[in-house]
Amino acid sequence: MIDACEIDVRLRKKQHELEIRASKLSEELTRYNIEVSKDSEDRAQQLENEEVAEAIAQETQQELQQIKHAILRLKQGQYQVCELCQQSIEPERLLALPYTALCASCANEQ
Ligand SMILES: [Zn+2]
Repeated sequence: MIDACEIDVRLRKKQHELEIRASKLSEELTRYNIEVSKDSEDRAQQLENEEVAEAIAQETQQELQQIKHAILRLKQGQYQVCELCQQSIEPERLLALPYTALCASCANEQ
């Protein structure tokens, strides 16, 4: 049996970490926009860094959405129910991926 309180604490902790990461990334991206280098080589490197930061920022936002969704599912008592097949999600899967909304077999079919 899964301890909903413990899961809630874990999810919120992760949410907090991701929010910090997201705000650091957006600061970084703002800085890139301000400090545009005039040197073309530097500029190329800068654009590359900017792209990487943007990709991570997007991933972070996606993860945040998943976590918020999982917290909501937990509140509704749906946390352990697969969103596709309505079967129970394997407890070991939830431990490894605390914000998954799909059981292993549905996730494999995605
Ligand atoms: Zn399923």
